[in-house]
Amino acid sequence: MARNEGQLRMFETQSFDNGVTRLLETGIAADWRCNIWHIRGRDRDLIIDTGFGLQSMSGTVARLSERPVIAVCTHSHHDHAGGLCQFDQRLGHGLEADIFAKPTRENTVCDLLDATVIRAEPSRDFDINTWCYQPAPLTGTIDEGDVIDLGDRQFQVLHLPGHSPGSVALWEAATGTVFTGDALYDGILYDHLYHSVPEQMMESLNRICDMPLSVVHAGHFSSFGPDRAKTIKAEYLSGKRSMLCPR
Ligand SMILES: [Zn+2]
Repeated sequence: MARNEGQLRMFETQSFDNGVTRLLETGIAADWRCNIWHIRGRDRDLIIDTGFGLQSMSGTVARLSERPVIAVCTHSHHDHAGGLCQFDQRLGHGLEADIFAKPTRENTVCDLLDATVIRAEPSRDFDINTWCYQPAPLTGTIDEGDVIDLGDRQFQVLHLPGHSPGSVALWEAATGTVFTGDALYDGILYDHLYHSVPEQMMESLNRICDMPLSVVHAGHFSSFGPDRAKTIKAEYLSGKRSMLCPR
């Protein structure tokens, strides 16, 4: 029987060093969808950010059923936390626990969305103008200094407020890898949202750039190294990459 592979392919995947895979939701516009990171561990796997969640991740990504999965959201915005409800173990910063548990279009910044963001509607009655993600109460909160242990590899939690109050990054010292969410990515940084604090964003950028980085796996767009991170920071400071500054 002929099957349309294109329709079945809900996620694009890309493999990186150290057992890291990037998943991208094919139904969401490329300039809007977040990077969903899957990290393989000996005893358990880690998912960092969960996308819009319009499609089942565990049902379509076979590797996700090989080991128990801990899902961490770098923050509670709609493009990162939409799929969190699909996971049994759900971690995020306590400062955004209320948003994960009781998401609204306002507190998850869905008001930024329009029809151009959705490339494939998940159902006939789907409406991006009223959509919000399903509640995903955290099963545990994480904060600065906490360690997420996959058995053979450890990820340290960095609290990096600015984009949102409970933004976190995960740092693997052994490989010099940091997963930054929206605290740092290679694009215009969103520092203009209702709970953004640009001064904190700058402090968070300084913190990331002062680390002995090997690679930055960001919340959106491509991964990059320490030099690019410093360039992005400098361009943010000059206003070039700030939503608050006219370009
Ligand atoms: Zn965000």
